[in-house]
Amino acid sequence: MRGTALDVVDRMGILPNVREAQVDIRRSTFLDADGSEVASVPAHTVTGSVAGRDVEIRRGDLTQILYRAVRDDMEIVFDDSIETLDQSGHGVDVTFRSGATHTFDLVFGADGVHSPTRRFLFGPEEQYHRYLGYCFAVFDVPNTFGLSSESVVWNSPGRAAALYAVEDDEELHALLNFARPEPPVDVLGDREARQKLFESVYADAGWEVPSLLAALRESDDAFFDTVGQIHLPRWSSGRVALVGDAAYAPSFLTGQGTSIALVGAYMLAASLADGDHVAGFAAYERDTRDFVTQNQALVGKGEAALFPVTRQDLERRNSRLRTLSSLPVDQGRPAHTALTLPPVRLG
Ligand SMILES: Cc1cc2nc3c(=O)[nH]c(=O)nc-3n(C[C@H](O)[C@H](O)[C@H](O)COP(=O)(O)OP(=O)(O)OC[C@H]3O[C@@H](n4cnc5c(N)ncnc54)[C@H](O)[C@@H]3O)c2cc1C
Repeated sequence: MRGTALDVVDRMGILPNVREAQVDIRRSTFLDADGSEVASVPAHTVTGSVAGRDVEIRRGDLTQILYRAVRDDMEIVFDDSIETLDQSGHGVDVTFRSGATHTFDLVFGADGVHSPTRRFLFGPEEQYHRYLGYCFAVFDVPNTFGLSSESVVWNSPGRAAALYAVEDDEELHALLNFARPEPPVDVLGDREARQKLFESVYADAGWEVPSLLAALRESDDAFFDTVGQIHLPRWSSGRVALVGDAAYAPSFLTGQGTSIALVGAYMLAASLADGDHVAGFAAYERDTRDFVTQNQALVGKGEAALFPVTRQDLERRNSRLRTLSSLPVDQGRPAHTALTLPPVRLG
């Protein structure tokens, strides 16, 4: 969480809990195709975070903190989802998969990058999903590498493998990410086909990549997807509004998905304080869109890309990394603080 998002968690009164759950990733080490070290730099210099201010936290810990903050004030239903939405009456008639039906004044879709609520409102995802040229797998591997509070990133042009150690955890998070001009959407849904795809892409890769491919084959909770953003002309329709990745996923290449989801949720709530959803939804978009656009633009290209595709761009990226340690302390990226929250209105 960075910039304006920290103001949101502060106003929610959960900043101390968030800081308590903070993980401290100290170094990022980059490796060449043969596994030799290119550079080892303080982690915040690559993520654009401000050391000592911005917060890195496990997704599950953040979810727990948010859940505890609201669970006594609202009814929370697990293991169910919306089957149909009907706005032809005076509210939104919702049928759930469980068979339950309810009529709500307003509905908010916060259901992620592949949001079914968005599909109900605006149609198939292909129209709004902007493919950014990569696909990836994330999965866990045993920490046989002795890594602690650090990340290691192996690159060859268009291919990356990364390991991420949260403190001294016994499990590491592994990422395989590779460039592909067209999204292999059909392949990603088929376990055997996608394993074959990864094995062919990384066939001649060095370092620990062969053992990561073996771990990927064994993994029963690997997560696969293409890297992309959501760009919608409107974030609401009638009495239904979208928030977070469902409306404006920026992709993990920006590192800002959680921050803009938190800021977007705050702005949506603030815009509805007067109770008029037509004016409220319009204000939400008007006051938040520029912030979202600036953060979505943080996807680097060419040598500034997190995962350079050509040999030339990778070499330039590596040269820049070698000088990072001697650069002044990062002040954070302007996009992270590009929105000032409206004043709190009480009563
Ligand atoms: C590999 C990876 C690394 C990332 N790293 C970072 C990072 O370092 N920093 C960062 O800020 N962001 C990162 N992100 C992005 C970040 O995870 C998202 O931007 C953020 O979680 C968006 O929050 P959200 O609440 O909008 O959506 P999500 O966190 O995706 O939550 C959506 C929720 O909706 C639920 N849901 C989906 N469909 C239904 C349905 N039909 N019915 C009921 N519930 C449903 C899902 O189960 C999920 O719980 C990363 C993403 C990936 C994939």
